[in-house]
Amino acid sequence: ARLKAQLTKSREAFTSGLSRLFLGKKQIDDELLEELETLLLQADVGFEATTQIIDALTDQVSRQVLKDPQALFDALAEQLEAILSPVEQALVIHADAKPHVVLMVGINGAGKTTTIGKLAKYLQNQQHKVMLAAGDTFRAAAVEQLQTWGERNQIPVMAQKTGADSAAVIYDAIHSAKAKKMDVLLADTAGRLHTQNNLMDELKKVKRVIQKCDADAPHDVLLVLDASIGQNALNQAKEFHQAVGVTGLVITKLDGTAKGGVIFNLAQTMGIPVKFIGVGETLADLQVFNAKAFVDAFLD
Ligand code: GDP
Repeated sequence: ARLKAQLTKSREAFTSGLSRLFLGKKQIDDELLEELETLLLQADVGFEATTQIIDALTDQVSRQVLKDPQALFDALAEQLEAILSPVEQALVIHADAKPHVVLMVGINGAGKTTTIGKLAKYLQNQQHKVMLAAGDTFRAAAVEQLQTWGERNQIPVMAQKTGADSAAVIYDAIHSAKAKKMDVLLADTAGRLHTQNNLMDELKKVKRVIQKCDADAPHDVLLVLDASIGQNALNQAKEFHQAVGVTGLVITKLDGTAKGGVIFNLAQTMGIPVKFIGVGETLADLQVFNAKAFVDAFLD
């Protein structure tokens, strides 16, 4: 019920259109399917996912498996869930890693720093010993934000002065985390957008340096994506994935946008696991991604 409230804007855009579509309809006709297609595209579900859904529904209608609008609606929910289910894969911390290194990537403003805080707390609640590495050395504010947050939550933060080499900060943090037998190291990275190529090169370097420290690391590369940028999220995902091999997505700001449908598009075209969703600014607003809960909240 809470998730439903948090997805209000996406639901309003999509669901109100849906109810209008199905209102008073006694039969399924071509017009209904066409309007549904338009609605899915408008909700940022994307061309590929929409085509797959409409083709499957059209096929079921023509085979008379679906006989009335209610059956069509239920089948739509099933189709949406089928797209998201494969990417519902929880973050698994390797018990023998010590530390399990999670590289956090994403462009400035996506919600990376906020997500690191929420994630650290989530992992701490699961009895993991967590350390943070302030690898976004470009932004003094980002380092300070992490340090203040760490102090308040009794989570150690490894930081160096602004302008220090990001890879060096993370390298040192891994050594420190090993010495202190930490379970998880969450490493922040830069996210400045105006020098995109440099950013990808820097992230590649960070990854290479981490691998020198521990051949199995980073154990995860989580890309933080702002849902409110809609289809642009896809380009970002492709670019980061190409550069550093993203193992999981955290999709933020789903509470404030009508573009929540982009999650279907990402799942269909990229197939990268969605580990968490961000649905607000407080600690409790980072949720483990659940395909069924998301679709139910989206459609209800
Ligand atoms: P960064 O530049 O990627 O580190 O982004 P920040 O973590 O500083 O977040 C940018 C802004 O987005 C801040 O005002 C956050 O409070 C806000 N934010 C982050 N995640 C969410 C979310 O899931 N929902 C909402 N509504 N705001 C968020």
